[in-house]
Amino acid sequence: MTDPLLAVRDLLTYFTTPAGVARAVDGVSFDVHRGETLGLVGESGCGKSVTGFSILRLIPPPGRIQPGSRILFEGEDLLQRSERSLRDLRGDRISMIFQEPMSALNPVFSVGDQIAEVVRVHRDTSRRQAWEKAVEMLEMVGIPEPAARARQYPHQLSGGMRQRVLIAMALVLEPALVIADEPTTALDVTIQAQILELVQELQTRLGTAILMITHDLGVIAEVASRVLVMYGGQVVEEARVGELFAKPSHPYTEGLLGAMPRLGTRGGRLTTIPGTVPPPTAWPSGCRFRDRCPHAWDRCEREEPPLYQVSEGHVSRCHLVDEPGRRRSVPLVDVTGRDDPTPPRASLPSGGPTAGEVDAASSLVPGGRSGAEAGRGVRDE
Ligand code: SF4
Repeated sequence: MTDPLLAVRDLLTYFTTPAGVARAVDGVSFDVHRGETLGLVGESGCGKSVTGFSILRLIPPPGRIQPGSRILFEGEDLLQRSERSLRDLRGDRISMIFQEPMSALNPVFSVGDQIAEVVRVHRDTSRRQAWEKAVEMLEMVGIPEPAARARQYPHQLSGGMRQRVLIAMALVLEPALVIADEPTTALDVTIQAQILELVQELQTRLGTAILMITHDLGVIAEVASRVLVMYGGQVVEEARVGELFAKPSHPYTEGLLGAMPRLGTRGGRLTTIPGTVPPPTAWPSGCRFRDRCPHAWDRCEREEPPLYQVSEGHVSRCHLVDEPGRRRSVPLVDVTGRDDPTPPRASLPSGGPTAGEVDAASSLVPGGRSGAEAGRGVRDE
């Protein structure tokens, strides 16, 4: 295999707070390869967004990336770069798509000016050429009448169009890596489908790698080829998407999948993972998920689980891999009001859904269409 585009090693990002040191990201390692989409998924507070911001060293005080962490981009450690040279890299070789386009865009400049500014900061180009590039990008992301829209301000555009503008800004210099932090969270489901489809289309065209940060496994099923599940500031499971959906190993992943809506369940309520993520100032000893896990036994409190190998390319931070006999035949999650007592499983076989099965993405949309299908032909403008 070729060298990864991005290699994160033992990333530690801590915040000093009055309540103690918050270990928001606590020893995270992963690779992103050229042209791939890697999903980073987990609940709020699990450390996924801090991981994304750490890559670009956008951690505000009192946060600090700890010594010993390494972020190798194209073989060079970004933590050794000066702030000035890192500024040259941001927006050029690595860019970011933010969650909330209204706050990410500047309200007092036209959207065309904001895209053109990215070009002018990083390239030796005239004002006019930068403007033409901005209009070209607006057209590429599917905004109608791009020349006229470029002169408009963010408040004059719909939420879907503002998100397209952010994507245009992120891709205008054809970066090698885009970090997308919950890029569709603020959008309704049909616009979300359009944006995901657009991101995939542009990725194929430009060969960009994407780190897709989301709490939504449906988004992962739609766009990613590999996925990292984060909990308690750590990676707790990593696998190819098809394998993770078909054969999750970690009880937390099983809980996340169980909490997804699915077709074929009538009259029941969605399942939930009991409890909440503990504060990062007080991770429990041993396994950080143990207070919420129905399989926990004394070893889980005594011994922090390493990342066990489940199969090729599939690892899980759970002692059950080492002692499968400890798995209890209880529901993995609270199941309330359901007719079917078995824990639900979202199924995403690598060869695509078979007759009688429903893939994870399709279960998100009433009528059983996948997110992308639901969005096809529907315009938000
Ligand atoms: Fe549950 Fe123990 Fe596995 Fe942690 S290590 S997820 S507590 S079984």
